[in-house]
Amino acid sequence: MKVAMFPGSFDPITLGHLDIIKRALPVFDKLYIAIGQNTQKKTLFEIDQRLEWLRSVCKDDNKLEIGLYEGLTVNYAKEIGAKYLIRGLRNASDFDYEKTISQLNSIIGDGLETVFFISKPEYSHISSTIVREIIKGRGDVSAFVPKTIYTDIESKYYT
Ligand code: ADP
Repeated sequence: MKVAMFPGSFDPITLGHLDIIKRALPVFDKLYIAIGQNTQKKTLFEIDQRLEWLRSVCKDDNKLEIGLYEGLTVNYAKEIGAKYLIRGLRNASDFDYEKTISQLNSIIGDGLETVFFISKPEYSHISSTIVREIIKGRGDVSAFVPKTIYTDIESKYYT
C-alpha cells in the first residue's frame, strides 16, 4: 500500500493546498494531511481550529486521514508508514528551500521520497501567509480558501 503524507502548518488551509491534495490523491492509496506542530512558532489559528478545517475538507474521501505531530517530519512519516512526502512548488524560492529539505529528509528518513506537485497558475499566488495578512485586515479571502472555511472565518473572526 502506497502511503503518503502532506505536511504543513495549514494556517489556514487554502485552495492551493486543496488543489495539491486533489492531485496527489489518485497517485496514492492513503494520504495523511498532517499538521506539524512547532510550539515555538506562533500561528494565527489554534491547532483545534486548523484540525477542524482539515477534517471539513477531507470528510468525503476515505483515502484521506488527518494527522498531527511534533518534532521531525521523518519520525512521523515512519510512525504512520508513509514512504512519500508531498509538497507543492509555486516558484523558484519554494524550489530552493524544498530541494534542501527533501535531500535532508531522504538521508535522515531512510530514503523517504518527496514528491512535488507544481502549483496550477491560478493558485501560485496563494500562500497562507498572505491569507493571514488579509484576515488580520478583515479583508475578503473568499478567492483563496475553501468556501466553508471562508464562511467560518467571516462568522467567527470578523465580528
Ligand atoms: P509550511 O509551514 O510547511 O510551509 P504550509 O502550510 O505553508 O506549510 O504549506 C504546506 C505545503 O503546501 C508546502 O509544500 C507549500 O509549498 C504548499 N503550498 C502552499 N500554498 C500552495 C499553493 N498555493 N500552491 C501549491 N502548493 C502550495
